[in-house]
Order: sequence, then C-alpha cells, then structure tokens
Amino acid sequence: MKIAVSGCLLGEEIRYSGGHSHDRFVTQSLGAYAQFVSFCPEHLAFGTPRSTIRLVEDENDGYYVQSSDGEVDVTEKLLHTNNIELQKIQNEPIRGIIFKSKSPSCGLGSAMVYRSNGYSKEKGDGLFVKICKEHFPLLPMEEEGRLNDPWLRENFIMQLFAYDDFENFKDSKPAMKDLVDFHQSYKFMLQAKDDVLYRKLGQIVGNHDKLSFDEVLNKYEYVFKTIIAEKSSIGKNRNVLEHMAGFVKDKISKVEKEMLHEQIRDYANKIVPLIAPLSRLHMFAKTYDVEYLLNQKFLHPYPKELALRSDIKGGK
Ligand code: SF4
Repeated sequence: MKIAVSGCLLGEEIRYSGGHSHDRFVTQSLGAYAQFVSFCPEHLAFGTPRSTIRLVEDENDGYYVQSSDGEVDVTEKLLHTNNIELQKIQNEPIRGIIFKSKSPSCGLGSAMVYRSNGYSKEKGDGLFVKICKEHFPLLPMEEEGRLNDPWLRENFIMQLFAYDDFENFKDSKPAMKDLVDFHQSYKFMLQAKDDVLYRKLGQIVGNHDKLSFDEVLNKYEYVFKTIIAEKSSIGKNRNVLEHMAGFVKDKISKVEKEMLHEQIRDYANKIVPLIAPLSRLHMFAKTYDVEYLLNQKFLHPYPKELALRSDIKGGK
C-alpha cells in the first residue's frame, strides 16, 4: 500500500530550519505495511534552510502566502510547486495522505491563518492540504498530531486499510456476486460507523433499479468511502458486539454467555479495551466454525500487530 507523507515526518531534513519532524508511528509501525511517497512543496519552492511563510486572509475569503523575509508575496511560487507535488502523488496509487500538523502548507485544520493586519485569526487547512482535498475528496487524510489520539488513530488506520481493500477489490475485476460477498464481509464494520448509510449501501447492492454492474459499483464506492471516513464510537461498537454475540448464543454455555456479555458491558464502561470482547467472540467463532463471523472485517480490519484496539483510550 502506498501512502503520501509530508517528507519531514519521514525524517527528511527539509523543515525551514534544516531539521525534521520524524514520526516513529508512521515510519516504523505503518512502515511495515506501506511504502511512502514523500512530498514537500516548500523545500521544492525555496530550498532548505529558508525563511518562514504564513497564510494571510484576503478579501475574498481565500488567502495568499507571505514570506517573513520582507513580507514578500510568494503565493505563485508555492502554487507552482504545490502542483508539481500534486502530480507526483497523482501518478501513484496512493491510499491515503499523512500531513505534518501546524504547517502553513501541510496543516490539516491546524495551520494558522492571519488577518492582513497581522493579528492571528483562526486555524485552517494549509495550502497544499486545500489542493489535496479538492483533488482527492474521499481519500483518507490525517495529520500526525491528531494521530497521537488513540481513537483517531484507530479510525484512520481502519479507514486506510478498508480504502486499500476496496481499491484492490476493484482491481480484481469483480462481478455482482463478489460485491455481495464484499459487502457482507464489511457488515459489522460499516454498522459500527453509520447504520443508516450501511442500509443505503445494502439497497445499492440489492440493485432494484437494474443498473449495470459498473453503475452499481460506482454508487457503492462513493457511499462505502463516505462511511469508512466516519468515526466509530463505543456505543455503536457495543451494538455491533451484541449483534455478533447473537451468532454464537445458541452454541455457547450459559456461563460463557454471561462472561461474554459482562465483557461487552466492561468495554462500554471503559474497563477493558475493545480487543477483550472481540477476542472472546473470535474464539467462539473459531471454536464453532461460524463462517459469517470469521469473514467479518470488523474482527481483523488491519494487521493485528498494530495493536490499536488494546488501548482503553481507543474508544469514545
Ligand atoms: S512543507 Fe510540509 S513537508 Fe515540507 S517541511 Fe513543511 S510540513 Fe514538512
């Protein structure tokens, strides 16, 4: 899987000062499963080291870029290198982008935008982020600062792997039956994010309007990618866990059932992390060979070595 990443997060010494912002979660944890496509529109425009830049609001609610070096307007120069970096990303089959927080180019909602009188105004998207959002509206995107939050981190990684899974699915030249299987395998994961849209997705797969498969797949893709961009919650996960427990309730003993429900309650009360009731469910599914559960992406949405469901703070 290819992911585009702000070069400074990969340890490249390209920040304005000549330093880097190496992020170990990105390079070491994610690096075991991804190849990175690095970008840095500022290094390309001005070299390193360089003067700092800042975003300044203009009268049309957009903004221009000012260099601290004599307050020169460097918007055009930076737009040019933004386009070069955009092209580089577009030429690769990327599954997501990870940006460096607080940067006037790469900040995802965390870049400071100034009023023309010099007083700080509010936080917004960096210039390169704006361009990427316009070109890849459904692509998973996060900034490294937000990835320190275990809940946001798990949701982003889940989105990233589901997005990759869907792209690989499309590449496999699927037929309608394959889409039905794909949809079924995502049932609980999608329900843990948005039950209403999940049902809409079911109607698309049902194809009562007798559309061509390509049309169905296009519609499916849009709604699927929209759902996986949403965040799950403890409440929604709990509903899904109860639902999954229904698939083994006639197979397990009374005590096992009580223990399973106690663990689901403990998860809802933030006493144990999500991995606890899920592991128990997984064990029952394996013991009694409940294929429907074993095929669920919710049980294994990404490599288990990432261990993102083992943190009690991973639920909100
Ligand atoms: S422009 Fe982006 S990639 Fe380059 S140094 Fe700044 S934050 Fe890092």
